[in-house]
Amino acid sequence: MQKIVDELKSIVREKAAEIDRNNDMGDVLDAVKESGILGLIIPEEYGGLGGGYYDACVVAEELAKVSAGVAHSIIVHSMAADAVRLYGSEEQKEIFFPKLLKSIGTIAITEGKGGSDVAGSVSLKAEKQGDAYTLSGSKTLITNGMYADVFIVVGRTGEGPKGLTAFIAEKSEGIKATRIDLAGMRGSGLASLQFDNVEVHESNVLVKEGAGLKVALGTLAPNRLPFSAIGLGIAERCLEIAVERAKKRKAFGGTLSDLQAVQFMLADVAVEIEALRRTLYDAARNMSDPGYEGAVAKILSARVAKKAADVAVEVFGGHGLLRGSKAERAYRDAKTIEFAEGATEVMKLLVARKLLA
Ligand SMILES: Cc1cc2nc3c(=O)[nH]c(=O)nc-3n(C[C@H](O)[C@H](O)[C@H](O)COP(=O)(O)OP(=O)(O)OC[C@H]3O[C@@H](n4cnc5c(N)ncnc54)[C@H](O)[C@@H]3O)c2cc1C
Repeated sequence: MQKIVDELKSIVREKAAEIDRNNDMGDVLDAVKESGILGLIIPEEYGGLGGGYYDACVVAEELAKVSAGVAHSIIVHSMAADAVRLYGSEEQKEIFFPKLLKSIGTIAITEGKGGSDVAGSVSLKAEKQGDAYTLSGSKTLITNGMYADVFIVVGRTGEGPKGLTAFIAEKSEGIKATRIDLAGMRGSGLASLQFDNVEVHESNVLVKEGAGLKVALGTLAPNRLPFSAIGLGIAERCLEIAVERAKKRKAFGGTLSDLQAVQFMLADVAVEIEALRRTLYDAARNMSDPGYEGAVAKILSARVAKKAADVAVEVFGGHGLLRGSKAERAYRDAKTIEFAEGATEVMKLLVARKLLA
């Protein structure tokens, strides 16, 4: 797996600025598909790499050091594969793992009415007619929406939290994707999706009708660890460029790195990165409560990434805000960590729930 990541990282490094500028992976998408990384979380008996959350963290961290958008695309793909691994029937695994080894997957939960309150906001209609469901409605802020062939879609089949159902849908004319021009983590194929009478056979329901919330939340929780590793990679990238700049930039008869105030800023970031790395990898090795551990990691990841990006811009001064510069890109990427895969406040609710139980 390390070889795949190293090779992919060197390809992505060359194109990272272009991917950010164009908000599109371009030919890097082919490199991703051909690299074997799509099998990251798919069990070996189905032809995958058989990785777990620890491996996914390593992949996310390493790729986010060069492009958070590419890292996020791969992690959301793996999350779609993980939904099949955790909740799919044997027949669904046999059908969809081979597809997910070659083509991109995504998981589409969020709608325009609000992403945090999943049970209250999902209204994409899934109506049963005979042995199939017809899906109509829209989703937004969907990573890989532009690239995906396989969609894990949460739709409404009834009232309340038990009225949600998770489907595996395949790319068809009825699914239209519109690119979203987000500030950070660009190139992840973020899109709004319109579903117009998309037919999904009942055999492509995950678990059973009404289990959609369980599938969505149960898949998101452990996958917040790899997602948090993207924040770690961004923070490490920020520290690296800030140290490099501080050592080179002349000021007051020396370099910025001679100034204790600058040294303290860099040291603070290094300490926070250390704390995040240890928390994250410890949780990935010994996960016992994915809801809690995923939420803790995600809160810390957003905090550390934002702090590191702030310091990077600070060290670069006005140059740190030049459009497309490394510090400016990291600044946009870091803020994005806060919302994708669950907003910080919602993560705090999960932590508080455990404290107060
Ligand atoms: C880059 C990116 C990629 C994404 N990829 C996907 C994807 O692949 N699939 C998918 O389904 N979704 C995806 N999302 C959507 C993401 O899950 C939502 O943005 C997130 O859940 C928050 O929902 P919202 O943006 O609608 O904000 P809202 O739910 O409208 O919340 C707005 C603000 O209110 C706060 N808030 C909400 N509820 C509470 C509360 N109870 N207490 C205190 N504060 C609260 C939030 O913290 C937030 O700051 C992505 C988002 C981003 C930014």
